[in-house]
Amino acid sequence: MKQQLRQYINGQWVDDAPVEKKDIINPATGEVIAEAPRASAEQTEEAIRTAKETFEAGVWADKTRQERAEVLLQIADNMQDQIDALIALEVENNGKTTADAQADAEDAINTFRYYASLLQTATDQSLEPMDDMQTLIVKEPMGVAGLIVPWNFPLLMSVWKIAPALAAGNSILLKPAEITPMTAIKVFECMDQTDLPKGVANLILGSGSVVGQTIAESDDVDVVSFTGSTGVGRGIMQAATGNLKKVSLELGGKSPNIIFADADIDTAVDYALFGIFMGAGQVCSSGSRILVQDDIYDTFVEKFVAQAKEIKVGPGDHPTSQMGAIVSEEHLNSILEYIHIGKEEGAVLAAGGARMTKDGLDKGFFLEPTVFTDVTSDMRIVREEIFGPVVVIQRFHTEADAIAIANDTDYGLAGAVFSEDQNKALRVIKKVRAGITWVNSYHLTDVQAPWGGYKQSGIGRGLGPQGLDEYQEVKQINMNLNPKPMGWF
Ligand code: NAP
Ligand code: MG
Repeated sequence: MKQQLRQYINGQWVDDAPVEKKDIINPATGEVIAEAPRASAEQTEEAIRTAKETFEAGVWADKTRQERAEVLLQIADNMQDQIDALIALEVENNGKTTADAQADAEDAINTFRYYASLLQTATDQSLEPMDDMQTLIVKEPMGVAGLIVPWNFPLLMSVWKIAPALAAGNSILLKPAEITPMTAIKVFECMDQTDLPKGVANLILGSGSVVGQTIAESDDVDVVSFTGSTGVGRGIMQAATGNLKKVSLELGGKSPNIIFADADIDTAVDYALFGIFMGAGQVCSSGSRILVQDDIYDTFVEKFVAQAKEIKVGPGDHPTSQMGAIVSEEHLNSILEYIHIGKEEGAVLAAGGARMTKDGLDKGFFLEPTVFTDVTSDMRIVREEIFGPVVVIQRFHTEADAIAIANDTDYGLAGAVFSEDQNKALRVIKKVRAGITWVNSYHLTDVQAPWGGYKQSGIGRGLGPQGLDEYQEVKQINMNLNPKPMGWF
């Protein structure tokens, strides 16, 4: 019998037999691992009402910062106790490798701990009294936070939203991507075993078009925080206009990784591989456009292609696998379609390009690490987010060319520069219009630093103190210290 997944509403696991269900698949084997309910719009509205009532009752919002911090730490401790289960579930449901899932689980736990610690830092302000007026500037929770996350980091993206939203005192409703609910459910099990009051944190399962849309449209949701594709993000913004709720968007990217001729080439190749093939390229900040200065272009391509071909692709739970499965057959096919388009457009396929079916991989959704060279800037494979292990390598001549090519995109999420010349590296990275950047590195970031994109890669920032601000209103309180008639009229 398939494992039946449940939603968590008002502090209860919902046992009602669902009207609609969805099979949850292990992308490494194609096997059905569980069955999830698909909530209706009415059920979603009911869950939103629960969150709203709980917020208005003040059971969480009125707790002290210390009390909220303690609950966040309880959640972190419970997740630490469950870390092996979290890792195994993430591998089984998303297809990523155990090493990737381990890093995600540690980051997720650390995120709860970070926001607990941030609550110890007072951010409220009192201004010097002006005449007889004393002004206080205080931050307050927004109300109900609707949290919508994608399938590529099901655990980490959920926690990046849950931790700051709860820290700020909101009530929340989380909607995982329909195909990857397993670790979000585990996080709610960890939250259930804490002093978090009932009804503050709610988990709803179902499709984006029904559940996600209902959240984005609801007049009772005060902030919607969405991570996903730019197209859906645009729709969320439109749906949010009814009650003018706050919208926070972490969207897609087509990030440039600029390699200058004076870079340490082995380091650059190594990080460029990590930049695109980590998570099988299903990472918003992937370095999916590698820009190489012409003096070293041929050498770089030769080394990069040789190493890309050596990457061991296989089930995430196999100790030798370095790159796991693509999340679903549907997504695999969409990546294969882009590979087809790239060939039609005249790009040179220098490595990979095919689905992998040998050595027992035929039931899963595996794709070779794929490299295109000799691309031009008008090609779709250069302009559009493929969101898979497919990289395009572009050639540039001067520093100014590199900057121009890097910024020739609607996106602005991430970017990197490799050079031994620190002055040049800093000069160039400051010109790259993106929110998350590196010099002689890729992908490694700090929970204390705000995460988000320029241009069509998003609005607002997650993580860091700014990540808390996304879930807070700011109020000024002006107090008359010497009340007597003012005599204006
Ligand atoms: P997606 O299709 O945009 O879906 C993201 C989430 O939105 C899912 O939970 C989805 O639900 C839901 N959704 C779909 N249609 C919706 C609608 N009309 N209203 C409200 N919600 C809706 O993205 P994805 O394919 O899952 O993830 C890949 C994308 O996420 C890539 O573009 C990637 O760059 C981006 N991403 C960005 C970041 C970042 O930090 N900037 C991080 C990770 C991923 P269902 O899937 O259940 O239908
Ligand atoms: Mg989708």
